[in-house]
Amino acid sequence: MKNMLLDFLNNSPTPFHAVEEIEKELKNSSFIYLNEKDKWILEKGGKYYIKRGDSSIVAWINTTHSVGESGFKLAGAHTDSPSLKIKWGSESLQNGCIKATTEVYGGPIISTWLDRALKIAGKVVLESENGLETKNVKLKTKVVIPNLAIHLNRDVNENFSYNTQNHLSVILSTKPFEGSILKKWISDEYGINSESIIDAELFLYDAEGGAFIGDDENTVLSSRLDNLESCHAILKAITSSEASKKVKVALFFDNEEIGSETRVGANSQYLPMILQRITFGNGEDIEAFYRATSKSVMISADMAHAVHPNFADKHDPKFQPLLGGGPVIKYSASFRYATTSETASYFISICKKASVPCQKIVNRSDIRSGSTIGPMSSALSGVATVDIGNPMWGMHSIMETANIKDHEYLIEALKIHFTDNNY
Ligand SMILES: [Zn+2]
Repeated sequence: MKNMLLDFLNNSPTPFHAVEEIEKELKNSSFIYLNEKDKWILEKGGKYYIKRGDSSIVAWINTTHSVGESGFKLAGAHTDSPSLKIKWGSESLQNGCIKATTEVYGGPIISTWLDRALKIAGKVVLESENGLETKNVKLKTKVVIPNLAIHLNRDVNENFSYNTQNHLSVILSTKPFEGSILKKWISDEYGINSESIIDAELFLYDAEGGAFIGDDENTVLSSRLDNLESCHAILKAITSSEASKKVKVALFFDNEEIGSETRVGANSQYLPMILQRITFGNGEDIEAFYRATSKSVMISADMAHAVHPNFADKHDPKFQPLLGGGPVIKYSASFRYATTSETASYFISICKKASVPCQKIVNRSDIRSGSTIGPMSSALSGVATVDIGNPMWGMHSIMETANIKDHEYLIEALKIHFTDNNY
């Protein structure tokens, strides 16, 4: 499992690549692609998936029975992670260097992105004989965003904050270049005529990749653990599941880090639309859909904050999840997490059945928690939801820290979630 997780993380520098990786594995497990543009007629017990916008993907195993009688078992996670996005068309020559400005995507710990080898990946839109086509790209050349020397910035360890327009441009080359060097790299590496590149969405990412560390090598240090670790766990669980009464649905949504309000995000009609179309594709009606959602349950999986030995007072003294201690149930009185006492009890029961430990977190009352796709998915679909996640340190750093044992625990719990016909 260690290598599988690391390969998945390293092969998925952007949501586009994560979806490509998920799709590969779904195809290997005989899931069939459906186009949103087509009319769906679903076979009982069939395995299907759809994609939207190249950065979100939803897979399901159809009911062997009836949707209205049985309901759904859902598990969802997000494919995106905080990063720096290159402004396409921003390349300029300054002081002998070619640089491009970046936009901050989500909430990265910005200082962790400087002075390290970075690579560029994303998707390009190409004009071809068949119209417009998209293509995922990963470029070979390593680049850097250098810090300013401390001698010229004495405040850097005190009260300094990076100006996102001025200080976070990526240095692409230390030699002048006529035209767009990014277009040249893409056309050289992929054999594409640079004139056919119409537009692109390119992100920076750590060039080194993840690693296992520690005396037992169970600690994983990698980019994008939030939230590709959860995506990988859900993928492993759904691809090892068999059809039964409940429709099993795996949701991989984009844009959680910027609020989810996009057509590929959780705060949209995407989820209700899919569940309705699954119902109609089985020849059932809208009442069957409402009956189904009322007897359904969703696990929203997104990473959780393990207590940090250097900052233990940032956690409530009674809720201090440990790395390796099992998945963490997240509670919030203001419903920044969707967990209720019933859905938490459901998750505790499946962990018991899977023989895995689980932990709980309620934030310190004076620190506002983050949020997830859980509350909006639950509100829009009417499905009872529990928010859980594996414990980690350094969330939103370019290198985050977690434990492989929790990953294995979560996969086992999710397998029971998909198998169990109770709730
Ligand atoms: Zn997350």
